[in-house]
Amino acid sequence: MTEQCSHSNIASCTLPSSEQVARLIDQATELCDKRNLRFTRLRRQVLELVCKADQPVGAYHLLDELRESGRSAAPPTVYRALDFLLEQGLVHRLATNNTYLACAHPQQPHAAIFLVCSQCGHTQEVHTGGVIDQLRRQAEQFDFAIEHASVELTGLCSRCRQ
Ligand SMILES: [Zn+2]
Ligand SMILES: [Zn+2]
Repeated sequence: MTEQCSHSNIASCTLPSSEQVARLIDQATELCDKRNLRFTRLRRQVLELVCKADQPVGAYHLLDELRESGRSAAPPTVYRALDFLLEQGLVHRLATNNTYLACAHPQQPHAAIFLVCSQCGHTQEVHTGGVIDQLRRQAEQFDFAIEHASVELTGLCSRCRQ
């Protein structure tokens, strides 16, 4: 749950390269295979769109993009696809602005901290296990067991502060 990750993240300032997107799609395909889950065309397409976006995207943005690519999907269908991707840990949802972003390392379950720029929307996923461990210990003092932890910090990224 509190793995430390050293590799770079897809949610970086620059657009992910097409190789990075292809790698994430490959990982997702492998993961679904291993879990005996159907990685349908829509699920794949939605993940691809989330990966390609330069910042977290909302469901309606995804609907627009799907329509542009000639595939009209009803909102509930897209939400179901997003729910699937969330359940499998392939994407994360930001409660702050109700958007989705791709997870760069879906193989291992992890708690994440998101740094969300309130000006440009740039969002970075960071893994600092210590903070989540501390929250868990504090929650335990209130006899509460954390099942899912996601911390979102809003502020200004280095570019927006210049
Ligand atoms: Zn993640
Ligand atoms: Zn910014």
